Amino acid sequence: MAYFPPEPFRIKVVEPIKMTTRAEREQLLAEAGYNIFLLRAEDVYIDLLTDSGTAAMSDNQWAGLMIGDESYAGCRNFFSLEEAVKGIFGFRYFVPTHQGRAAENVLFSLVARPGVFIPSNMHFDTTRANIEVRGARAVDLVIDEGLDPTSRHPFKGNMDIEKLRRFIAEVGAENIPLGMITITNNSGGGQPVSMENIRQTSQVLHEHGIPFFIDACRYAENAYFIKLREPGYADKSPLEIAREIFSYADGCTMSAKKDALVNIGGFLAMNDEQLYQRACTELILREGFPTYGGLAGRDLEAVARGLWEGLDENYLAYRLAHTQYLGDRLLEEGIPIVEPPGGHAVYIDAKRFLPHLPQSQYPGAALTAELYLEGAIRAVEIGSVMFAHKDEATGEMVYPELELVRLAIPRRVYTQSHLDYVVEKVVTLYRKRESIRGLRIVYEAPYLRHFTARFERL
Ligand SMILES: *Cc1c(COP(=O)(O)O)cnc(C)c1O
Repeated sequence: MAYFPPEPFRIKVVEPIKMTTRAEREQLLAEAGYNIFLLRAEDVYIDLLTDSGTAAMSDNQWAGLMIGDESYAGCRNFFSLEEAVKGIFGFRYFVPTHQGRAAENVLFSLVARPGVFIPSNMHFDTTRANIEVRGARAVDLVIDEGLDPTSRHPFKGNMDIEKLRRFIAEVGAENIPLGMITITNNSGGGQPVSMENIRQTSQVLHEHGIPFFIDACRYAENAYFIKLREPGYADKSPLEIAREIFSYADGCTMSAKKDALVNIGGFLAMNDEQLYQRACTELILREGFPTYGGLAGRDLEAVARGLWEGLDENYLAYRLAHTQYLGDRLLEEGIPIVEPPGGHAVYIDAKRFLPHLPQSQYPGAALTAELYLEGAIRAVEIGSVMFAHKDEATGEMVYPELELVRLAIPRRVYTQSHLDYVVEKVVTLYRKRESIRGLRIVYEAPYLRHFTARFERL
């Protein structure tokens, strides 16, 4: 029996959500070009589009908003945030940014250019786009188990250390301005990276004089996975584990919209003083003065408080068990998912759910459309619409290994009965899966096309 943990909080404020009829949804989705990004959120009953910026803040965070200091320079909330960033991540310098991709934008404007490579276990889509838009190449070197949706490896987000060594030898350390690791590995199913692997990645990069940056969005969830799964960490607190993780790195990019439990915010941190100074110049150009970086003072306070709350042991135990409950319930019903479930989301394996649809007919996107029609549930495709691209040499389409539909779970927002409702609708679709048709793209943008593409049903 799947276990649902009792929530370590109670409800003080409620937000009504409304149900639509199937006929209404047919019309709404057609108007949205079968792209769930183009729906109005009000027309969605359970929104599992993303766990990003969708958290319910605590009373302590809301109270923090009231002491926002909106001074242009040196506001007190910057120093609350500095205390949290230094206390948890330990880097010497940081700049706030309005979200994670803004931190990526600043970082890669300084290091990415044609002819260079940025290896990672697996880049997230905005990270890849920020690298490739500048002519550099983003390279994924995750372990093979990370690409196998049925492998039960405890740390499927791990970097393949041998592949990394070979890659550095092949392209030359001088062409790698930095190496990264994403914790947890969002594009690969929200899978964690082990401490040992972070240490080894750091060692290999540093042997070659390459700086090591962590994409830290879900570092707290990753820290708790380490506590649960890696020998030697059971008695350490998430804070101690987090400090060790970042002690191996030279900097990080962070979207506070994930494990900092806020609706907007992020930062870029580093130890290198010169890089910091150059980052400040870019920041002023793109985001704002270095003590607010594209955020209001009140937002900085909410991030600072959220960073500490996000490391609370009771919260993290509940958080990972909550996600696992959804995964276990789907598995009990025979639904093909990425196993084991990740920290922030359960990923349905659309290749196995809809084996009759080739990737050229976007089975992942087709499944997200059907989930909306069936239950007013919004999920997101992480597959061919997001990642397929034309090979420059052969002109042929290259499709990603994984064709996933992500059910991302907003933090502290939905209850057990909401998750049970989702399971019921997924099971209904699975029973009639052979009748589900593929999609054809009728409009696409040159970058990040999944956000704005329009489709037709085949
Ligand atoms: C969300 C996310 C980002 C980008 O952050 P935004 O706040 O959405 O701009 C980068 N990397 C990973 C792994 C993410 O999950």
